Amino acid sequence: QLIDTMDSTVKKLRGADKITEKNVDRTLKDVKRAMLDADVNLKVVNKLIKRVKERAIGEAVIAGVEPGQQLIKIMYDELTSTMGQKETLLARREEGPTVILLSGLQGAGKTTAAAKLALYCKKEDPPRKVLLVAADVYRPAAIEQLEILGKQTETTVYSLGKDESPVKIAKEAINNAKMQGFDTVIIDTAGRQVIDDALMTELKQIKEVSDPDEVLLVVDAMTGQEAANLTKAFNDAVGITGAILSKMDGDSRGGAALSVQEVSGQPIKFIGIGEKVEKLDIFYPERMASRILGMGDVLSFVEKAQEKVDEKKAVEMTKKMMEKKFNFQDFIDQAKIVNSMGSLGGMMKLMPGVPKVKQSELRAAEDRLKKSTVMIQSMTPKERQNPDLLITDRTAQSRLRRIAKGSGNTMEQAKSLISDFKKMREMMSAMSNQMVQTNADGSIS
Ligand code: GDP
Ligand code: MG
Repeated sequence: QLIDTMDSTVKKLRGADKITEKNVDRTLKDVKRAMLDADVNLKVVNKLIKRVKERAIGEAVIAGVEPGQQLIKIMYDELTSTMGQKETLLARREEGPTVILLSGLQGAGKTTAAAKLALYCKKEDPPRKVLLVAADVYRPAAIEQLEILGKQTETTVYSLGKDESPVKIAKEAINNAKMQGFDTVIIDTAGRQVIDDALMTELKQIKEVSDPDEVLLVVDAMTGQEAANLTKAFNDAVGITGAILSKMDGDSRGGAALSVQEVSGQPIKFIGIGEKVEKLDIFYPERMASRILGMGDVLSFVEKAQEKVDEKKAVEMTKKMMEKKFNFQDFIDQAKIVNSMGSLGGMMKLMPGVPKVKQSELRAAEDRLKKSTVMIQSMTPKERQNPDLLITDRTAQSRLRRIAKGSGNTMEQAKSLISDFKKMREMMSAMSNQMVQTNADGSIS
């Protein structure tokens, strides 16, 4: 498309055809702000930005797109791939019960998540037979809470009361599961307000005796900046296999997801989207990336532009310009460009070596051009392709008269269309000469 050719020419002349540190400086700041607003940990933000910068600098800019917009798309892709490791959603052992151990701070949503997972497992194909294990003996009424949730999800709950050690409960529960034919054991554990040694030691012991297939960290989406430290502490102590981000139904933008993923290298597997047991959703990295960046409009715009890039067409159009074969069909396309880009005059202003035409004159020509499309539609295809039939050919006068009449215009108007066209064609050739010079002298790459 002509638009792509012109756009990239202008970019080249402004030195904006490649992503440089300079032309994305402001966008990087915006992206940083957006991620911090979404509660992504500062260190994580800096790491991601560094990575994206390394990848993006020097990349050719897509026609019709600003370097900054393209950078946002690159960041989006980076976030998506960072959060989107394709792994089995929930481990499933061939033989013997699959063990899923839940961990996290108090109030994170572990007990709720245990019940949600139980329901999810029962709906899998083939359905699983789940045993829920009440291994939180500290929090008052923690066992009762799990029992209520067990009833709601029609899942058996294993408990030894609150006087046994969680380690023993876990061990016994798995033996029980084996004997009674449960194929999945979900262990709900205790949490503390803050990370402490006693909690971690106990969790390690439970892990040792239960040999879990999954150790899932439940993280409250509202945790914010702290999510990174939290993840590091749990991952260093017990080694997590993934995470569940709870309370995503709140107004959090989910930056914790990125922190958890970046710090542990393990995927977010599910998100909690409400208090009820069915409010569990599979984690979708694309959605989360959009939510974190909050720049959805830009993203879809860049995607469209990317689709539009058609190198062949651009080359064709450039060639046409070089050969000065600009015709009335291009003229119509031109009108569209003028409409979509604001003003051709504005674009021309950016190009050195072209200001032979006065700005005001150009704008007037543009206006008339927009009004002239009706007249161009009255031309035959042949006339549109070969403008000289209306300019130098000896039939030019009679053709113009026919076109004017057919489109309800005067001969004056038809003649001014021709003069506007000539002006535009001159500009096109000035532009193409400019391109040749630029490339030949090599000062602008
Ligand atoms: P635990 O201490 O880690 O076991 O946390 P709980 O499962 O007891 O949950 C703590 C509170 O958070 C309860 O009031 C839950 O109803 C609530 N909760 C858990 N998950 C979600 C969720 O995804 N969305 C909302 N809105 N509330 C949740
Ligand atoms: Mg609990």
